[in-house]
Amino acid sequence: MDLRFTPEELAFRDEVRTFFHENLPESIRTKLVEGKKLAKDDIVTWQRILNKKGWAVANWPVEWGGTGWTPVQQYIFQEELQLTPAPQPLGFGVTMVGPVMIAFGSETQKKHFLPRIANLEDWWCQGFSEPGSGSDLASLRTAAKRDGDHYIVNGQKTWTTLAQHADWIFCLVRTDPQAKKQEGISFLLIDMKTPGITVRPIITIEGGHEVNEVFFDDVNVPVENLVGQENKGWDYAKYLLGRERTGIARVGLSKERIRRIKELAALERDGERPLIEDERFREKLAAVEVELKALEMTQLRVVAAERHRTDNRPDPASSILKIKGSEIQQATTELLMEVVGPYALPYQPEREDDDRWNEPPIGPEWAGPIAPTYFNWRKTTIYGGTNEIQKNIVAKAILGL
Ligand SMILES: Cc1cc2nc3c(=O)[nH]c(=O)nc-3n(C[C@H](O)[C@H](O)[C@H](O)COP(=O)(O)OP(=O)(O)OC[C@H]3O[C@@H](n4cnc5c(N)ncnc54)[C@H](O)[C@@H]3O)c2cc1C
Repeated sequence: MDLRFTPEELAFRDEVRTFFHENLPESIRTKLVEGKKLAKDDIVTWQRILNKKGWAVANWPVEWGGTGWTPVQQYIFQEELQLTPAPQPLGFGVTMVGPVMIAFGSETQKKHFLPRIANLEDWWCQGFSEPGSGSDLASLRTAAKRDGDHYIVNGQKTWTTLAQHADWIFCLVRTDPQAKKQEGISFLLIDMKTPGITVRPIITIEGGHEVNEVFFDDVNVPVENLVGQENKGWDYAKYLLGRERTGIARVGLSKERIRRIKELAALERDGERPLIEDERFREKLAAVEVELKALEMTQLRVVAAERHRTDNRPDPASSILKIKGSEIQQATTELLMEVVGPYALPYQPEREDDDRWNEPPIGPEWAGPIAPTYFNWRKTTIYGGTNEIQKNIVAKAILGL
């Protein structure tokens, strides 16, 4: 298996790289380099720039605005986004509900929603998990009862990422409580402005507001917002979750973090020699870089194998990418904590967005986001299917246990 890029692929990489460098607003790039949070506007602005170029929904079929790129080109595009670094197009629309609509939605749904997803006119969020139904997702209880040409939805979703910005939510709901649990679930599109929906923030360990609880109280949803067939939602969710795992290795993002670690570790610290001169630190950094190289090779093997796949099902090896990729992402945040040293202690969440934190930072300006990032990135081994669940998949689908 040849894991090297062809001359055409290298030329494509240069084209993508040049476009990103010439068109990404510097203020957005700086926020990402420094580990600061992006505002909704930053994400919308960049996705619209990509959409104008025809690259916002690169993974979709050409008839719906996709690029027709090969899996290798898709991979290069993702890697360059992460290396720049630039924001990803909003995944809830572009890699989740969009592909589900394309595969299973009605013509009306496709014509209305797909162009709006591409241009980020509608911000989507994902309403799958519920209290008690995360890994065991099929046990979900949010109910949708048919009443004429509407469903009446009652229940609760949780961990709903960025629901505070959302115009729409795609939900798994129980439409047949008598059926076997996987067979009584439907996939419903719900307008977040519908009366009866309440969004409550969950403040995470670093003090940020990224996830929410969403409550549904007699929410009326028109029947035409059902995707595909009633009680077939589990099949559509499996299709979606398989796509969520690919790209989760985020090799480019970890490479960019390592670049940043080296840059910051080379700085003098209060008259002490730079940390990069410490042999023990360099050993730890090298160990993470070796792991990352191995992950990159695995990622390239999966991408190369995708050239020959015809079944449109995710490669179970994507679970390995999720496990290793998330562990390495966490390891880079641990190295950054070593770099920042004692300045990690007075951590000041959301200092830049919030008047209460307008005092000058303690320590250098760059130190501020490092501890919040470290805490926030504990999530990577949980979302998108926990690492324990991915290990179960590897055991069954790859090792045959
Ligand atoms: C930051 C963040 C953002 C998220 N965003 C969204 C979102 O936008 N939309 C959405 O729908 N969901 C979202 N989630 C939810 C996420 O998908 C769930 O948290 C995840 O699936 C785990 O479910 P749970 O939290 O209920 O934990 P549980 O399933 O209760 O798991 C608890 C622990 O038990 C372990 N465990 C459970 N079952 C097994 C098993 N069979 N074998 C071995 N170990 C097991 C788990 O690995 C975990 O360590 C998000 C989560 C986080 C942390």
